[in-house]
Amino acid sequence: MILPSSMLGMLGGGQLARFFVIAAHEMGYKVTVLDPDKVSPAGMIADVHLCAAYDDADALNEMARSCVAVTTEFENVPASTLETLAKSVPVHPAAAAVAVCQHRVSEKNFLRDNGFPHAPYAEINQESDIPAANSGLYPGILKVARFGYDGKGQARVGTPEEALAAFRNFKGEQCVLEQMLALDYEVSVVLARDAAGNVQAFPTAENIHRNGILDISIAPARGAAEVREQAQALARGVAEKLGYVGTLGVEFFVCNGCLYVNEMAPRPHNSGHYTIDACVTNQFEQQVRALCGLPLGDSRLHSAAVMVNLLGDVWPGGREPEWNVLFEQTNLKLHLYGKHEARPGRKMGHFTVIGDHADAVLKDAMSARSRIKVEG
Ligand code: ATP
Ligand code: MG
Repeated sequence: MILPSSMLGMLGGGQLARFFVIAAHEMGYKVTVLDPDKVSPAGMIADVHLCAAYDDADALNEMARSCVAVTTEFENVPASTLETLAKSVPVHPAAAAVAVCQHRVSEKNFLRDNGFPHAPYAEINQESDIPAANSGLYPGILKVARFGYDGKGQARVGTPEEALAAFRNFKGEQCVLEQMLALDYEVSVVLARDAAGNVQAFPTAENIHRNGILDISIAPARGAAEVREQAQALARGVAEKLGYVGTLGVEFFVCNGCLYVNEMAPRPHNSGHYTIDACVTNQFEQQVRALCGLPLGDSRLHSAAVMVNLLGDVWPGGREPEWNVLFEQTNLKLHLYGKHEARPGRKMGHFTVIGDHADAVLKDAMSARSRIKVEG
């Protein structure tokens, strides 16, 4: 077991890393953050901020020398960075598990090869793969295999001609062409798994997206209990097959009452932010615990919760929103990430409303949201 006050390493300095630093600090650990941004949300509050690229040899040496274990807040760290660090310090999740999740082709192939339900897809490596793909995939979505997030690097395509145009628009970048499913709704499961294979899963959350970006998470998810339970079982199965150690997010589509795995995130997940205010142990403390080999905490939900993301759009002309309208709602917890510049679509913060009754919590959250919402 790695005990306080050891120094932990974090690759990435965004809001997920910031919550990790907060959880680690509460437990008495220190954290070194590697992020090339001088003013990253986590770098600003870390004990040590290594301001360098993710493949900077000196920075990686320093991290390996000064940290007793290393984790990551995002899947796009170069696999070679994780492998280099792993030679001299424990790294969780392992490079191999991150590699599966950072590339849509390997992710889909992993799901297919292990019998997990997923949307029908074709791998598009070159233009000729488009006419060769099954015509049943239309209408579909063409998604770049790497570096996509918040709906970026995706195009909805109705025909092979549109798919070709989109592929060219993505500069011939490797893609997957995925069948567009008629979604009833979307859910996700965030869980933590330790090296011995013990799992603590958070309740299944229901997710509502807007313009390809997560807007609202409702925990527990509404709808059929079987859907919630099946999502839990599938997420556990995915974690096991990945040999995963750490906090993992698994996103699902629900279509005609059946679940399809959409994608996995080898890190805490935006849809698990409600755990900060509504669970005995939150997803970031679980990340610390799994990394340090501590027993995983109780992941029980003690309140119904609704989380609402605050994007840069809420900052009118860059001006600070009127936070007082949120503070008036006393069962609402506001979390701001300390980002210096509010841009449309940029995740700046979130709030979570908690309470005993799911319906009342949702009503309170929607009313708070309408009061802070700035149109146009
Ligand atoms: P993030 O990383 O922020 O979750 P992303 O850019 O990786 O997003 P996806 O999760 O692949 O994107 O897709 C974003 C959203 O687009 C999904 O949550 C869903 O609402 C919609 N979507 C994606 N693929 C499909 C599909 N095959 N059928 C129907 N809707 C889809
Ligand atoms: Mg997604």
